[in-house]
Amino acid sequence: MGVPKRKSSKQKIRQRRSANANLVVPNLSECPQCHEFIVPHTVCSVCGYYKNKEVLKIKA
Ligand SMILES: [Zn+2]
Repeated sequence: MGVPKRKSSKQKIRQRRSANANLVVPNLSECPQCHEFIVPHTVCSVCGYYKNKEVLKIKA
C-alpha cells in the first residue's frame, strides 16, 4: 500500500484547504417581487414578500 513519505506541512494543508474556500457558491434565488437575490424558502428581507404575498412590513 502506498504510504506518504513525509508528513504534510501546515503550509501545504492550509494551501489545499484555502484553494477550495472560494468555490462554495451561495445558493440564491431571485425574489419575484423586487428581483433581489434572496435565500430560497425565506421571506424576502428587501420587500417582505413570500409566495407573492406581503408577510412583513418593511419600513422604507
Ligand atoms: Zn423582494
